[in-house]
Amino acid sequence: MLILQCPYCGVMADETELSPGGEAHLTREGPGASDDAFHDYLFMRENPKGVHFERWRHAYGCGKWFHAARCTTTLQVFGTYKAQTTEPPKDIRDRITKARPGWTWRDYA
Ligand SMILES: [Zn+2]
Repeated sequence: MLILQCPYCGVMADETELSPGGEAHLTREGPGASDDAFHDYLFMRENPKGVHFERWRHAYGCGKWFHAARCTTTLQVFGTYKAQTTEPPKDIRDRITKARPGWTWRDYA
């Protein structure tokens, strides 16, 4: 069972207390975007076998959205952080690199 710590209230919540919200850190396209960029925003997701950044909501707790970094194959959780964070915190990226040498994350700059 997947267990994530809510970064707002600190509760260790199992997945029955949470609602998934899909991939984290998507670039939202506005009305001036090209058709291809808007298509990618709506439909294209990474869906990796391995490390993934996701949005979750503490639905049966404080109700707030947050991000989680975890492995989709082993359910290893590298950390959770607030949804207002525009890129994964350095300590979480370092934890992932230590656990998965050679793994690289996309450029969030
Ligand atoms: Zn919470």
